[in-house]
Amino acid sequence: MLKSSQNSAHPSFSLKWYEKLLDVSPVGIFFTDIEGNCLEVNQRWSQIAGMSREKALGRGWIKAIYENDLNYIAQKWYEAAGKKEFFCEEYRFCTPEGQVTWVLGEAKPVFSDEGAVEGYIGCVTDITASKISYSQISQTYDRARTILQEMPIMLFAFDTQGKLCAWNTESERITGYSAEELIGADNVMELLCPDKSYRQEMLRLYKEKGDSYINWEWKITTKDGVIKTISFSNISEKYPIDGWANWGVGFDLTPLNDSESKLRERIKELTCLYKLSILSNQHNLNLEQLLDEVVQILPPSWQYPENTCARIIFEDQFFTTDLFKVTPWKLSSELHVRGKKIGLVEVYYLNEKPQEAEGPFLIEERLLIDEVALQLSRTIGHFYARRDLSLMEELAAKSNELERFSHSISHDLRTPLTAIGGFAQFLKKQIVKGNYADAETIAQKIADITTRMENRLNEILKLAKIGKIINPEDEIDFEEIIDDTLNLLANRLEDSSIDVKIEGPFPKIIGDRTRLIEVLENLVDNAIKYIGTAPNQITIGCRREDDKPVFYVMDNGIGIDTEHFEHIFELFWRLDSNAGGDGTGLAITRRIIEAHGGKIWVESGGQGKGACFCFTFGHVTAE
Ligand code: ADP
Repeated sequence: MLKSSQNSAHPSFSLKWYEKLLDVSPVGIFFTDIEGNCLEVNQRWSQIAGMSREKALGRGWIKAIYENDLNYIAQKWYEAAGKKEFFCEEYRFCTPEGQVTWVLGEAKPVFSDEGAVEGYIGCVTDITASKISYSQISQTYDRARTILQEMPIMLFAFDTQGKLCAWNTESERITGYSAEELIGADNVMELLCPDKSYRQEMLRLYKEKGDSYINWEWKITTKDGVIKTISFSNISEKYPIDGWANWGVGFDLTPLNDSESKLRERIKELTCLYKLSILSNQHNLNLEQLLDEVVQILPPSWQYPENTCARIIFEDQFFTTDLFKVTPWKLSSELHVRGKKIGLVEVYYLNEKPQEAEGPFLIEERLLIDEVALQLSRTIGHFYARRDLSLMEELAAKSNELERFSHSISHDLRTPLTAIGGFAQFLKKQIVKGNYADAETIAQKIADITTRMENRLNEILKLAKIGKIINPEDEIDFEEIIDDTLNLLANRLEDSSIDVKIEGPFPKIIGDRTRLIEVLENLVDNAIKYIGTAPNQITIGCRREDDKPVFYVMDNGIGIDTEHFEHIFELFWRLDSNAGGDGTGLAITRRIIEAHGGKIWVESGGQGKGACFCFTFGHVTAE
């Protein structure tokens, strides 16, 4: 069957060597005659085809071919044979047990010396393993392609000509442009970024960044004109892909940005309400100061703080932010207290803004202004209630004082009146008796008592007027008050050899200078009057209590028992009627101090322990 080669290179190289070669060949080898009848197969062929040599001979080999491939292979074989050409096809063997083996079958015609086809020699190579891995690869490839196509992240790629060549489903969903519309198109950038200057700026930046960037935000315009923020990452330098000159992924930040900005708006609104509640609880602010502060916290809570101004109208007063202007873009809410409209809270945009639920305003802003108006109405209501309460308290105190006052007046005036009445009777008797010398003495006594009464009435009148006399208020240096007072009392101090000690520092006071001198004069005058035995000393000073200044006039005189601490401030009250005073000084002093928003009290360890008169003022400034 095999012919020995006439050109054998070595004499010992014989046909046996070829037969051995057939045995060791890693490929199956077969020989057929011109009709395709199998003349011989090697061992490897039998292994691959799963058919013995004996069964394969003649037409037997055909049964080894997988049924489905048979027609196709036969056709190809006869085509090649007809043209005396090389045959090369992939096909399958199948054993009776059903085991399939993929092979690459190749065959060549064998020619006689005369050039006629004598038969065919061919080989089959088992390619099952590579077929399996190819199918696995293509499956993996298909899966990867599906993932890239359907993943919820935008995927884009440009080819070497700069034309878009990949645009997945998410890219289509986000932009509204289909792959069909964009792939290969010349105007992709114009469609996605229609704003020319923005596009040029981004392309300029792209030239700087090159094909390697992470999370670069672009404003993309969708097919229906919505602007979306996409974070693009280009990783083509790190992961080059054949045919994709530059590619990357994109993530739509718009929903995130939207919720972030909504959250920011809500935080602003909550901050506004929080500040409002803080201000509402600041009891040191009066109503005007409160409204002045509240109006300032409104613009920062609106969507465009820098283009927002606000106004609160309360009764006939206006409280506005700086740069206030009435414009057509207004949101307002009414203030109501005790069922009555007392004002308005208004917010204006200084220029036109895009349409929202409430004109250019958000629905949340409508809710916010209503809530602000409601809270503010409540706070104003509390102010009214507090004002009413303190008016009532003041009224009650005034009425108590009036009662005490009229009681002491009637008591103090009754005594001299009774005396006058008695003297008048006596006078009448003396006149009847013709005892004119005594009558004259009695008349003189009546005149003296009348003068004293007149003096007292003057004091009462003076006291009654104190609250009403409004001298212009000054910022006063308390040390000047001390100097003026000590000058007035200089002679008396000298006569009594009293040493006056000053213990500052003193803050400045807002008040009525003349009245304040009167206060200090009364207190120092009393300290001189009720001074004890030597060494005599009066101290005028100022100490701090609860961080507020407390002024005092202290002596080392006769002192006061605790039980008299309150009485001494009543009109005409005196501990010792033989002492020099008339009991009006401290009552007047208290009236003046209270008219200045302050308080006065006495501290003393009792008789012989000296007295310390302490007082405060409603308005003091820094020391
Ligand atoms: P007057 O001194 O004219 O009697 P005041 O109203 O000034 O009237 O004082 C009322 C009373 O308070 C005095 O009569 C005196 O009993 C008592 N008093 C006032 N100042 C002192 C003081 N520094 N030390 C002791 N007692 C005082």
